[in-house]
Amino acid sequence: MSIADNLKQVLTELPQGVRLVAVSKFHPNEAIEEAYQAGQRIFGESKVQEMTAKYESLPKDIEWHFIGHLQTNKIKYMIPYVAMIHGIDTYKLLEEVNKQAAKAGRIVNCLLQIHVAREETKFGFSPEECKGMLAAGTWKKLSHIRLCGLMGMASNTDNAEQIDSEFRLLDRLFQEIKTTWFADSTHFRELSMGMSHDYHQAIAAGSTMVRVGSKIFGERNYNN
Ligand SMILES: *Cc1c(COP(=O)(O)O)cnc(C)c1O
Repeated sequence: MSIADNLKQVLTELPQGVRLVAVSKFHPNEAIEEAYQAGQRIFGESKVQEMTAKYESLPKDIEWHFIGHLQTNKIKYMIPYVAMIHGIDTYKLLEEVNKQAAKAGRIVNCLLQIHVAREETKFGFSPEECKGMLAAGTWKKLSHIRLCGLMGMASNTDNAEQIDSEFRLLDRLFQEIKTTWFADSTHFRELSMGMSHDYHQAIAAGSTMVRVGSKIFGERNYNN
C-alpha cells in the first residue's frame, strides 16, 4: 500500500467533524508531498527544527501542528507559522508562547495537554492541575494565545478497556472545562486524541482530531 492509499483508508474511517493530523515526524519531504498530492493539508511534527525546515521547503498552504514536547528556547522559531501547538503542559509555557506570539504579532492556537495514561513518561497537566490553572484565571490576560481544547494520549497497552476509560476520562474533562470556562467560546472545541493503534477508540470516545503517523507513512527511521 502506498502513502496515498493508506491516507485514503484512514480518511474513510473518520466521521464528519473529526480531522486528521498526518504525523510526518522523521519522514522525508517526499513522503509529505505524496500525502499532500492526495489532498492532505494538516501535518504533525514533534521537533521544531525539523518542522521549520519542512515548512520552508514545502507548500505554504500546509497547516503545521506541533505535537512534541515544548522547549522554551525553541518556541520562537515556530511562532511565525505554526497552526496549532498541541502540547502545552505548564502555565509557564503558555506564557512563553504568548510572549513570542506577541512579538510576532500573531495569535497562536494552543491545546492543553492532559496526562491520563498510567505511564510515568507522558507529559501533561493532571486534570486537577489543569482545572486549577484555569480557575486561577490569569491566562485570560494572555491575549496572543487562543485556547482551542485539550490533547491527550492513552497508555501504550493492549488493554482495550483501559484505553477506552482513559479516552472517556479525557472527554469528560473536556466537556467539564468547556462548560465551566469556555461556554461562550467558539474556539474551544478540539479534543486531540487517538494515534495509529487507538484512533478508532478515541473517535468513539469523542475525539475531534486524530494524530496518525505510522499507519499512513510506515515505520519511522529514527536514524534519519
Ligand atoms: C508520534 C506521535 C503520534 C503518531 O503516532 P503513530 O503511532 O505513528 O500514529 C501521535 N501523537 C503524538 C503526540 C506523537 O508523538
